[in-house]
Amino acid sequence: MRRAPQFRVDGVERKGRSLRYISTRGTAPALGFDDALLAGLARDGGLYVPESWPAIARDEIAGFKSTPYAEVALRAMRPFVAGSALETDFPALVRDAYAAFDDPAVAPLRKIGPEAYLLELFHGPTLAFKDMALQLVGRLFDRVLAARGARVTVVGATSGDTGSAAIAACRDRAAIDIFILHPEGRVSEVQRRQMTTVMAPNVWNVAIQGSFDDCQDLVKGMFNDAPFRDALGLSAVNSINWARIMAQIPYYFSAAAALGAPAREIAFAVPTGNFGNVYAGYAARAMGLPISQLIVGSNRNDILTRFFDSGDMSMRAVEPTLSPSMDIQVSSNFERLLFDLLGRDGARVRQAMERFRAERKLPLGRAEWQAAARLFAGYRVDDEATKATIASLARETGIVIDPHSAVGLAAGRARRRDPKVPLVALATAHPAKFPDAVEAATGKRPEAPERLARLMDMPERLDVLPNDLAAVEGYLRARARAAAGPR
Ligand SMILES: *Cc1c(COP(=O)(O)O)cnc(C)c1O
Repeated sequence: MRRAPQFRVDGVERKGRSLRYISTRGTAPALGFDDALLAGLARDGGLYVPESWPAIARDEIAGFKSTPYAEVALRAMRPFVAGSALETDFPALVRDAYAAFDDPAVAPLRKIGPEAYLLELFHGPTLAFKDMALQLVGRLFDRVLAARGARVTVVGATSGDTGSAAIAACRDRAAIDIFILHPEGRVSEVQRRQMTTVMAPNVWNVAIQGSFDDCQDLVKGMFNDAPFRDALGLSAVNSINWARIMAQIPYYFSAAAALGAPAREIAFAVPTGNFGNVYAGYAARAMGLPISQLIVGSNRNDILTRFFDSGDMSMRAVEPTLSPSMDIQVSSNFERLLFDLLGRDGARVRQAMERFRAERKLPLGRAEWQAAARLFAGYRVDDEATKATIASLARETGIVIDPHSAVGLAAGRARRRDPKVPLVALATAHPAKFPDAVEAATGKRPEAPERLARLMDMPERLDVLPNDLAAVEGYLRARARAAAGPR
């Protein structure tokens, strides 16, 4: 795979130079970090990627072994914000983002077998790995907006998990109001309470009398209503935002260093939906981390596994599984990898994506597929195998994992090439978030940690609205502070 030219972090080349972000589709203007953060999607429909990958020196990586997580995070991410208005505040924001995690290691490693480890990414406020990125991204957003005297209104639809992570990231932020729509009565009680028990004055939960698709259509309708969108400064903190990828890079470094990198290679297994998490591993490798393999775990929605196995990336209908956060038909962040596979040629990416939408199959040559398959492997894990993995790990080690983590672990076990290379399986949610699946696998309901148990006695705040765009827009207009004009 072709690597972008290296960007020197230390030494004279850095002076006066800041890292810029370019669109995968080649025509949107290159932006600095702050603008890429606020933009999310590029104006040409592409995704922002760094113009070149900063390198982390080998001795710095080795030093991460005995360094607290927030400090590793700071050093791994610092080159990405070089030259931005955020640069001075960045260390404090990073430390603050990880201060409230319920494990002092933030992302602890647990040994589960010979050269096999779990990397627990669920110690944040909502007990799933989205917190690893969103806790920082909410703070970054707020700081950049405050510096510009601007406000935004974040809106989103959720079928369960992403809403709570977004709320936890945006609550109490001075420049942000957040409105999350969920389908009334169709999210689990725990999922609802993780959203509705947040009493922050800038958080609004709306239960829509309709389905998740209705909620998504309402959000789309609001974004398509240009006067409304502009009046409220609508924004989404969605999974294609570059800053979310950036904030997922550090745990690859911390885990690999703990296991002997850079003197040793490390393999990672990642339960994958939108390809954001595993793409962050790819980025860590581009920055100099010796990653030998990135193993992508898919559930029955296996478009990525079909691609890495045979070069076939064709769309199929989404099927529900035990790992709902991975029930995805098209992985939006894959476009970032595609950009490198196509020689960083935006015109070729645009063409390929247009044909993908039209023909429902990505036109990609054998050479590109083979380049990808040298680093990535895919593996499909159905619900039965997911439960069997939860059960066998519990039997062998006493450790209980959630269904998403089980998909990653099963894929890692099946596809690791070299048993002497440590395998790190990313654990992306606490098992108590998916008690039914865990109970079906082990016969025992997982114990809820304090953070979750407490929710059951807390008061809730939500409003119920009909599935009606005018009603929802009226509700937001009356509450969003941005609707009152600039600060
Ligand atoms: C979002 C999510 C995933 C998938 O991560 P991607 O970055 O979308 O590939 C896996 N597991 C859990 C628990 C998630 O919430």
